[in-house]
Amino acid sequence: MMSDSLPRRSTRQVQLGHAWIGSDHPVLVQSMTNTDTADAEGTARQIFELWRAGSEAVRITVNSSEAAAAVAPIQAMLEEWGCRVPLIGDFHFNGDRLLREYPECAKALAKYRINPGNVGRGSKRDEKFAFMIEKAIEFDKVVRIGVNWGSIDQAMAGRLMDENAKLAQPLPVEAVMRETLIRSALESAEQAIGWGLSPDKIILSCKVSHVQDLIRVYRDLGSRCDFPLHLGLTEAGMGSKGIVASSAALAVLLQEGIGDTIRISLTPEPGGDRTKEVIVAQELLQTMGLRSFTPLVTACPGCGRTTSTVFQELAQDIQEFLRRQMPVWRASYPGVEDMKVAVMGCVVNGPGESKLADIGISLPGTGEVPVCPVYVDGEKTVTLKGDQVAAEFQAIVENYVSTRYGEGGARRAENKIIPLKVV
Ligand code: SF4
Repeated sequence: MMSDSLPRRSTRQVQLGHAWIGSDHPVLVQSMTNTDTADAEGTARQIFELWRAGSEAVRITVNSSEAAAAVAPIQAMLEEWGCRVPLIGDFHFNGDRLLREYPECAKALAKYRINPGNVGRGSKRDEKFAFMIEKAIEFDKVVRIGVNWGSIDQAMAGRLMDENAKLAQPLPVEAVMRETLIRSALESAEQAIGWGLSPDKIILSCKVSHVQDLIRVYRDLGSRCDFPLHLGLTEAGMGSKGIVASSAALAVLLQEGIGDTIRISLTPEPGGDRTKEVIVAQELLQTMGLRSFTPLVTACPGCGRTTSTVFQELAQDIQEFLRRQMPVWRASYPGVEDMKVAVMGCVVNGPGESKLADIGISLPGTGEVPVCPVYVDGEKTVTLKGDQVAAEFQAIVENYVSTRYGEGGARRAENKIIPLKVV
């Protein structure tokens, strides 16, 4: 399901491997590994997991000779496993040397991420940056000029601060810092074009760690260029804080049509699952109606009327089941990602929400008869009871998917006349 009304900021279209980035294409979900890239197999496995979760491009750190040497073997392993995901090399400080000494790495990557604040100092900076751009041109690669609040171009910041101090009414320091980020990205892009890089090979980002700063920076940046923009709130943090902060910032920008690729920079809990950042990015885009990835479960929050944890467990089990099935379902059942499933806790809103979903179940609340009516396409079809409700409902969902979205089923579903549901 694509949104039918949200406008996109008009951009150039950039080809990244087999994917496209820009306003003519859906917003792309990106992620980043946290393995040591020198551990080729461990990194390839994590990239594979991120890709399986739905990441459409994966960034890896290329920070040492060992890491650079591992990039081509990583790509070879992924190809062997049937994983065709564009790899982005994240370069800081020594990217020019690594690209010079490891041409196989330079060839294997689809995109080079270059941070203008971390290329080098003084006259060396332009020399090193120019060399990396030369390599991108030689190997026909995309470049993301990725500026970051934490590694801002100090020389430019100093220059703009001096200019600001001479104004009759100087701007606040934060405004000068934001301008520094934007100018650093735009001037670096101009330099790269001057050295021969096609403007259709450039993506920009200006990441900061505060929501309001990010929104201001991207609104301004977006109005001053037509390069596709990569969005992300840097150092968003852990758990719910990271999810809320990223969603708050990115949702405002996406609603305004700003942003062509996104990453949710979550700090995983120790031993936590890296694919969480992919799932959050997908859920953000899907709940905003911009893209569809996985059937989503509508579940009520529960209240004093819910008798047990059965309904929470069922809602969680079904969502996990749907997510697990998607790698297979995506290929076999086109359109299934738009399916809506409801799991509700009692009779108050249960039947109503279940009828509005494609398939829904209403569990019994306190004092209700212990039965669970199931609704399919708005009609009550069966009533489940006993301790096998979860397994039986899962089987009903599976059967519904194959019937509705299987060969011939999608067409039947499109032609189906769905009656107006009165709740
Ligand atoms: S549907 Fe029932 S159990 Fe769920 S929140 Fe509403 S009243 Fe409570």
